[in-house]
Parts: sequence; structure tokens; C-alpha cells
Amino acid sequence: MLKNILDLIYPRKCIFCNNILNINNKNKYVCETCAKTLAFVEDDFVFVNNKNLDNNIKFYFKDCISVFYYESNISKAICDFKFRNKDLYFRPLASYMLENIKKYYNNINFDFITYIPMFSSREKERGYNQAALLAKYLSKKLKINFACLITKIKDNKPQHSLTLDKRRINIQDVYKFSGNKNIKDKTILIIDDIITSGFTLNEAAKVLKLSGAKEIYCATIATTRIKNKNSLLNYINKNMCDSLRRKNKEYE
Ligand SMILES: [Zn+2]
Repeated sequence: MLKNILDLIYPRKCIFCNNILNINNKNKYVCETCAKTLAFVEDDFVFVNNKNLDNNIKFYFKDCISVFYYESNISKAICDFKFRNKDLYFRPLASYMLENIKKYYNNINFDFITYIPMFSSREKERGYNQAALLAKYLSKKLKINFACLITKIKDNKPQHSLTLDKRRINIQDVYKFSGNKNIKDKTILIIDDIITSGFTLNEAAKVLKLSGAKEIYCATIATTRIKNKNSLLNYINKNMCDSLRRKNKEYE
């Protein structure tokens, strides 16, 4: 009863298209149209397996899986989640990730689940780290130990504000192993919101591998459609977060 009244006063909106949800909508966060038409990554492309990423680079994670392509409604929802205080979006977004992890990583025994950290002052400013919210939710649901294994020691420029070549240099040596757990021979799942070039996840995986971890896997909400470098660069130039960023100076 109370729930229905609240729904009338503060109607729930679909996180992807912003349309008001019908009270009888089964899903509390996503409308029926979006639930059917979102750009899910097809089975054949789910595993990044390093092969779609720059082959001049040594990759430290074994694989990365993503739920959606980073475009249209999905990029909007992720930008809202990251930059517009929609921290509660972690629940619907992580529940999609949960299904993906159960489906594709079901034969892997993870010892820890961790996330890509933010620089401390940036996290203070935002009030939350979206990747940590996702990772905590997933750790509870999957019954895998949650741990803050990585610390960000350099306040570099945001990766999505840079071209591909600059991203690689920008991310170098920005992380260190937190040292708070014994990760020797452990299998670790790193959570982040998006994978584009793969450099961020790779740098984080590197510090864990060099600290003794056995295998690193990654999972994200979304990925860019990677076909070739040019299309990726092209995409980055047009990407929605960048245009939001230009419009909203407060995020600088
Ligand atoms: Zn919708």
C-alpha cells in the first residue's frame, strides 16, 4: 500500500529511457521496452580475451566480460550513475552483471572480488565510487570475499577525456597493491563500469599479478564495440560522456 502511494508521488522511471514505469511493471528499474531492446553484447563477443585489444601490449588479465555495448540508453544510464549522483543505479546495473558472471565465469573459483579505485580526493568529491558499489553488491550475491586490493596513488586525467595513444601513458603507474590481503596464488575478479581500451583494467591487473596473484579476470557493465582502432577512436571522440563533460563544467 505505502509502496503504491510512494509510486504515485515519486513515480519510478526507467534508468535507461527515463519513461515513467507502470505500477504493475515487474522490474522496479527498467521498462519492458528497454528490457527487450537494450544493446546486449552477443555471446560470440562477450569474452574480450585480449584478442580485440592492442596486440603490442602485454595483458595481465585473462579475460573481461561485459553486459552491454556502451551506446544510446546504456551510456546515458552509466553517465547518470557516475556523474549525476544516481548511485542507487548500482543495484539494477550490478544485477545484469551478476547474470553475466554466473553465465560465463561459472567454472572459476574466485578468491576475491575487487574494483578499480578512484583517487581519494575525487571519490570524496563524488561521494561514492561506482565500481566499488557494483563490486560490493556482486560479492554479497556471489558469496565471494570483497577486498579493496588496489590503491590509486596518482591523480591522473580521466581516461575517457583522452585519445587512445594518450590513455596508455596516462594510466601508467597510477595504481599500487594495497597490501591488506595475502593474494599469492589467488584468483581475483576486478569490477569496473566500462572497458574501452582495456588499459585501466590492465594496469590494475598488473599490480595484482606482480604482487603474486595467480589469475585475474574482469567484468564490466559495458564495452565499446571494438572492431578496429579507427572505429574505437572515432567512437571515443563522439562518446556521450565527453559531450556531457563539455556541457557540465562542474565535472571537470
Ligand atoms: Zn526504458
